[in-house]
Amino acid sequence: MPKEKCALCHEYKDLELSHIVPKFVIRHLKKTSFGAIRNMENPNRVVQDGEKHYMLCGDCEDLFSAYETKFANKFFYPYMNDSIKEFDYDQETYYFLTSISWRSLYLDILDFVKNHEVYGVDLTTLEILIQKEKSMREYLLKINSEIDGIEHHIFFFDDLVDVEKSYPELRPHVTFHRGITSYTFFNKELNSQATITNMMGIILFSLYSKGPDEYWENTEICNGVGQLKAKNQIIKSFCANELNEILDFSKQRSDEISEKQKSKIVDKIKVDPEKFAQSKVFEDLKKDFGLE
Ligand SMILES: [Zn+2]
Repeated sequence: MPKEKCALCHEYKDLELSHIVPKFVIRHLKKTSFGAIRNMENPNRVVQDGEKHYMLCGDCEDLFSAYETKFANKFFYPYMNDSIKEFDYDQETYYFLTSISWRSLYLDILDFVKNHEVYGVDLTTLEILIQKEKSMREYLLKINSEIDGIEHHIFFFDDLVDVEKSYPELRPHVTFHRGITSYTFFNKELNSQATITNMMGIILFSLYSKGPDEYWENTEICNGVGQLKAKNQIIKSFCANELNEILDFSKQRSDEISEKQKSKIVDKIKVDPEKFAQSKVFEDLKKDFGLE
């Protein structure tokens, strides 16, 4: 393990390989998969694990993991396994959500700086992101108890009726329920930035600067105690476009799956059609094509 500066505590220690999307999500995806997980970046390569980076020391990993476990047990598993739609949240939920977006934002800033021309990142955007990363980091280290001007929203991708009707070929259920991804995006004209993380249909948006005329209903997790319901959620924001972006991107990638890979998948289904019929993928495919 290389001795390098920990992204959170800034001490020089042995760094561990950190997951961006939490481990419990990746484990659940694997456990409920028919066959192996395919990476969105390169669908022909089978990924055994989620994306990982040397980023945090053992102490900082341990600090985060307690919050992770609580979120997994209070939100993730009840939603995935028992179709629970109402969730009580508290400061620990807010901390956990901050830790996910912060990890993603931290790595994206490094990437934006290195490849600013590719991403078209301007200095103003970069400055805002760097400032937000710093205040999230200080909050995560418990130097401050609040973060200035950021909002966390959770959107449950349940049944997007409109998307479903207009674009069954984009396979929204399969894409979001069987997907994991996390990245930062921005809109220069609106001066808005956010990090999106999809955890198999539980979609977290962390807003760094809200655009004008944004409207979010039944989605926000405050730094306090409250309740969130997975129904009647409304998003009117540039962030909503990002869901379409993910669908388009995923469609492009799955179109690129080679014939060889496709026939491997078909062979697997032929070997055990009953297992496929009971799989979560099949359930989502049925929803996508309106077969239910
Ligand atoms: Zn550390």
